[in-house]
Amino acid sequence: MTIQGRIGVRNPRTGEQDYSFTPNLPEDVVALADELRRAQPAWQAAGLQHRIATLNAFRDALARHASALRHAVETDTGRVFETAIEQGVAAVWVDRWAHVALETLEPEITATETPGLVSKAGFSPYPLVGVISPWNFPLALSLMDAIPALLAGCAVMIKPSEVTPRFIDVMDRVLDEVPDLRRVLRYLRGAGDIGAAVVETSDLICFTGSTATGRKVAAQAGARFIPCFTELGGKDPAILLPGADLTRAAKALANGATLGSGQQCYSIERIYVPRGDEAAFLKLLLAEVGKLKLSYPDPKIGDIGPLTFAPQAEVITRHLADAVAKGATVHCGGAIEHHGGGLWCPVTVLTGVTHDMQIMTEETFGPILPIMAYDTVDDAIALANDSTYGLSAAVFGPEEAAISTAQQLCAGGISVNDAGIAPMLMGDRLVAEKTAFRGSGLGGSRLGRDALKRFMRKQAIIVNRNTGASPWWFETLRTED
Ligand code: NDP
Repeated sequence: MTIQGRIGVRNPRTGEQDYSFTPNLPEDVVALADELRRAQPAWQAAGLQHRIATLNAFRDALARHASALRHAVETDTGRVFETAIEQGVAAVWVDRWAHVALETLEPEITATETPGLVSKAGFSPYPLVGVISPWNFPLALSLMDAIPALLAGCAVMIKPSEVTPRFIDVMDRVLDEVPDLRRVLRYLRGAGDIGAAVVETSDLICFTGSTATGRKVAAQAGARFIPCFTELGGKDPAILLPGADLTRAAKALANGATLGSGQQCYSIERIYVPRGDEAAFLKLLLAEVGKLKLSYPDPKIGDIGPLTFAPQAEVITRHLADAVAKGATVHCGGAIEHHGGGLWCPVTVLTGVTHDMQIMTEETFGPILPIMAYDTVDDAIALANDSTYGLSAAVFGPEEAAISTAQQLCAGGISVNDAGIAPMLMGDRLVAEKTAFRGSGLGGSRLGRDALKRFMRKQAIIVNRNTGASPWWFETLRTED
């Protein structure tokens, strides 16, 4: 709600609007883009060692403000444990990406297949990267692309979601303590119009959010002819193969579908089980999810936080009602609960689901685990691939069979005998690259050492060390006639 130019922010535990902020105007974005662009050449020229030292100072400043940051993110998301994870990753990313940068940004001179010609790879950072991030992990997702972009030598402006903005005040104070970084990294406040202004003024966009908004952002970036990396929604499947360790699968999926109250792009949102294993797996899964309690009233006790974004409750309710109306059986949970002014979704397990139900085809973004039995592995693969999305997946079973199944799935980040591993390896220089498939996004990998090079324009500097005429010169061509 906007009152006198200020945007009100709802506390997900109380339902009260207990914070508000004045959004930036689109003209502020233009002015900030100019300022950052002017500062970027010095940041690039200062060299990688300076940039690493500055980001180390940033990491230390984040640690000094840890308590305020934690409080802000906990208040906006209503979650304690996940906030601790978010807070920890920023420091890990600074360390990991610094190693990657040292290994990958050094230009290499290599011979070519043509005698006398050598090629030197040049990297020229995009001057200004615009990051637009969602509400589900506000701190981590604001920094996930910003840190490698800064190390690459870019300036960065970040537009987090208006739904979870309290941490921006703290980030401003953190940046005040690292002036070298503040010259090239700033946060903006506002809603979609400010996001659109970021797309209009940046040289490269990293967008994390819904597929619907991602399409608009990509179209706007396309019209401007700038690269746009989109990491969007998902309807991530898990397949249990014959011979899978059902106990391990139940534990992993009870976690992988409910972390962040299921408000996670990498959440498993549908499970396919061999028909003969359905009853045994259901029993094990119900035992596991039975251990997961709402973290109410004490945020430090329990596992499942409130829904951060109130309209999500309507989506969950609609999907559950549709499933039940079409014959699904609810084994636990099944309805949004109201506690203390907040909206809560208890962990919900369903069977008797089909792909005619929204709960199996649309992103639900809640701690919901629908289980569907299958007859053959080919059927399971076809069902998993029957989606407009392709973000991540999980396969449980003997390793060789699981990898072979994973290779047939339309998804970028696939966990074997676990769920949601890929985001944990961000900045790990040994992990493979991955892209989002289909409606889950477009653009280069966020994972793997070459992810850093997304922020660089590449130059091929080709030196001819021969002294004679080149084969493509007229004088040589004439001689050949
Ligand atoms: P949205 O797409 O609604 O919003 C994402 C960001 O875009 C917000 O900052 C939003 O601002 C901004 N925005 C809105 N309209 C525009 C516009 N026209 N131009 C530019 N920016 C705009 O996503 P949610 O915040 O609802 O996040 C949840 C979604 O994010 C889920 O679908 C989830 O799967 C996905 N996600 C994907 C991840 C991945 O790595 N693939 C990771 C995490 C989440 P504001 O909110 O202020 O309106």
